[in-house]
Amino acid sequence: MSLEKNYEAIQNELIQISNQLYENPELGDQEFESMKLLVKYLKSYDFEVETGIVDRPTAFRAEYTSGKPGPTIAYLAEYDALPGIGHGCGHNLIATFAVGAGVILRQHVDEIGGKVVVLGTPAEETSGAKVPMSEQGTFDDIDVAMMVHGADVSSESGPMLAMDALQFDFTGKAAHAAASPEKGINALDAVIQLFNGINALREHVPDDVRIHGIITKGGEAAGIVPAEATAQFYIRANERKLVDELGAKVRNIAEGACLMTGASVEISNYELSYDNMITNQALSDTFTRHMKSYSANPVYPAVPATGSADMGNVSQVVPSIHPYAGLNEPGLVFHTTEFAEKTITPDGEAAIHDAVLSLAHTGYDIIVNKDLLHAIKEEFENQ
Ligand SMILES: [Zn+2]
Ligand SMILES: [Zn+2]
Repeated sequence: MSLEKNYEAIQNELIQISNQLYENPELGDQEFESMKLLVKYLKSYDFEVETGIVDRPTAFRAEYTSGKPGPTIAYLAEYDALPGIGHGCGHNLIATFAVGAGVILRQHVDEIGGKVVVLGTPAEETSGAKVPMSEQGTFDDIDVAMMVHGADVSSESGPMLAMDALQFDFTGKAAHAAASPEKGINALDAVIQLFNGINALREHVPDDVRIHGIITKGGEAAGIVPAEATAQFYIRANERKLVDELGAKVRNIAEGACLMTGASVEISNYELSYDNMITNQALSDTFTRHMKSYSANPVYPAVPATGSADMGNVSQVVPSIHPYAGLNEPGLVFHTTEFAEKTITPDGEAAIHDAVLSLAHTGYDIIVNKDLLHAIKEEFENQ
């Protein structure tokens, strides 16, 4: 068994896929060309593919079955880009890592048994498709789920924050702001009181909590009392339970803002909620061991949770990891054009080498080592 040889044989194909995704960045749920490219590649290696799963047109499930008993290994691909900055989160790499690992492991399962699944998971940056996948049974027949994200440096899979995306639509009453201000109800004032209330709440929350928002509608003209005003917030914390508690408090603040101003409010979720990421340590340790042996770059311990991702929801239903493959540039910032450009350099190619081989080798280990799969599952049952 030489995974390195398998990798060398497809290296150029993988780099081409990453570059093509980079050249044609598509926003969440519009990644049609990206999906086509990935599906075509997987089909050329005999994967059976179903597109449009969980009612998401750019989602897909690609599967190769050995026909022999054994675990099912899933690699998750993201391929959505960001408005204005293309693949500034490097999801072209994530997709390349997943299909590369899938194609390599697929060449071994006829011998060792089991099944390889590559899941196409759209719109991570907005309303991630891994949420409905986690809710609708996509992972029911899957034993482990793995993905790797690009980053400035490599690090182990760690925690990520649970998150709610709350929208507050306040309605007041328009009036001439100078001639008859007493006849108006100022919806913008309610938004401002919402911000003030949340800022007061900040003093009494644990350190891991992040609440951050913008005003998306704040009136039409200074001479008109704003009849409609809207704010959007992300509320994040280490655990889902705390996010739910904070959500209740923030809703009360919004109601309070209505009492203060006479406005009314409608509260909704403007994007899907993400759960916190629980790394499966047994799975992560295996991956990290391979990453350290395949990569020329250091692999750092997991960093404390700062962001959120729909992989968190996956980790609640199946043993999961979400480690980072470094681009050999400490301090490189996510969601920038610099990050996007870095993905198509030799350092990006090195990240593809490191992540693809580590993912494939981890999958191989799980299939051939029953004790490892047992340890992973036991840890998951106790989480
Ligand atoms: Zn991102
Ligand atoms: Zn990302």
